[in-house]
Formats: sequence, structure tokens, C-alpha cells
Amino acid sequence: MDLRAHRVDALVLRAIAYGEADAVVHLLVRGRGRISAFARGARSSRKRFGGALEPFQRVEALVAEREGQELWALREARVVEGHARLREDLHRIAHAGYAAELIHDLTRAGQPADGLFTLLEEFLTRLEAGAATSARLRALELLALEAAGFAPELAACARCGSEVPQGRAGFDPDAGGVICQRCTQLGTPLALSHGARAALRQLRTGGLSAADAPASADGSGRPADARAFEDACAQAQRPLRAFLQHHIGRALRSSEFLAQVGAPQ
Ligand SMILES: [Zn+2]
Repeated sequence: MDLRAHRVDALVLRAIAYGEADAVVHLLVRGRGRISAFARGARSSRKRFGGALEPFQRVEALVAEREGQELWALREARVVEGHARLREDLHRIAHAGYAAELIHDLTRAGQPADGLFTLLEEFLTRLEAGAATSARLRALELLALEAAGFAPELAACARCGSEVPQGRAGFDPDAGGVICQRCTQLGTPLALSHGARAALRQLRTGGLSAADAPASADGSGRPADARAFEDACAQAQRPLRAFLQHHIGRALRSSEFLAQVGAPQ
């Protein structure tokens, strides 16, 4: 039996076909967090769903809790923002899929995550407007980790707490971030190059807008060399991905797809 029905603002993270006509849809709902909902007739009823159950779309949905069941009922949905241009390009599809999986895995069912909702919507909007870049992926990863309460340490040693001078530094996902030279002697498999570390620090404060318009690292306020910044962000991929994997407990499936289609990582 359905309990109360709610009209909600949601992003579609994933839609899984079920049987001939139905689907199970994972939604990130403003004010409520992530929910899973059963959409009866999802693939046959244009009237109730009208193409609103594609991943990455922002929808207005009518959902109802079901007594004693984790799965909600999705009664109807309409597209508010389709992000159609995301689907025109394989690299953008790969980045959007990665973002949706990342946000899915960093949220817990039923716990409000409005910071992550806003972040994902902004990421998708920017991705739709430009090319897929490593810089935006790094900004997304950093901001998502921060919103989930797991931000990596980039300034002080994550093992002993002493300050790590600017420049290249060891990076230990288990310890929680960069580590000082003395602690590095205990063995560290990963490192952040000087440029990669500076880029991450800029992205942490500047967010997605810094990813699209980075400033020069010399403090002059001039724009950075976009290509060099993108390279630095790509260099930070392995350490940050290892950090994410440590917190999520597994590698994201969509990272394989990024590699397969040759998208910036
Ligand atoms: Zn140390």
C-alpha cells in the first residue's frame, strides 16, 4: 500500500530495465537524498513518464513511500532539464556516467545530500556546454569527497601532521592525503607532482568554475596556461582515484568506460 505521495525535484542517477515494461530508477532527490523507486510501465507509458527516466535528466517526479518496503513507487515524472547535449558525445556520456556513479556511491539512501545535488547539476550543466576535461573531473571528485566528509589532506602530512612544503609530495590514500618526506621513507606508492598538487589546491577553493577558468599558480591573477593545467589535473588522477577507491571500497565501474572510449581521465 502506498503511504504519502510527494512531488519532488530529482536527478536521475540510473535507470535499470525491469521485466517487459517496468524500471527501477535511482534518484537523487533534493531535500531527501538518494532513493530507489519502482516505475511501473516506465517503458510503455509516455503519458506518465514521457521520456523522463533517462540518466542525467533533472525531473519533477511524483513518488510515494510503500509501507515496509525500501523501494518507493514512482508514479509519474516530467523532464525539467534534459541535458540532451550530454548524449551527443561519447566523452561527455562517459564523464556524466562517472559523475552519476560517484555521487551515487558517496550518498546513503534516505540521507539528504543537497550539496551533492547542486554539485552534480552544476557539473552536468558545465559538461554539456564544453568539452569533457580532467580538470572538471578532479574538481568534481574533490568537492564530492568534501561534501561527503572525506576531503583529502593537501597541506599537512596525513601521517604526522607536520607541514609539507609546496611542491611534489608523497600521497597515501590510507593515511588520508599528502605525506611529508620523513614519513615517505616508510614507503609510499603514490605521489602528487608539484603542478598536480597546486592544481588540486586551486580546485578545492575555486570549484568547477576554477576548473573551467584556472588562474596562474604565480599568484598574479592571470589566467593559467589551460593545457598545462589540464595536464596537471590528469597527473592527479591516479592518487585521487586511489583515495576515492579507499573510501568507497571498490573501483567505480564507469572508470573502465572512460578508458575504453579514450575520454580525459
Ligand atoms: Zn609526516
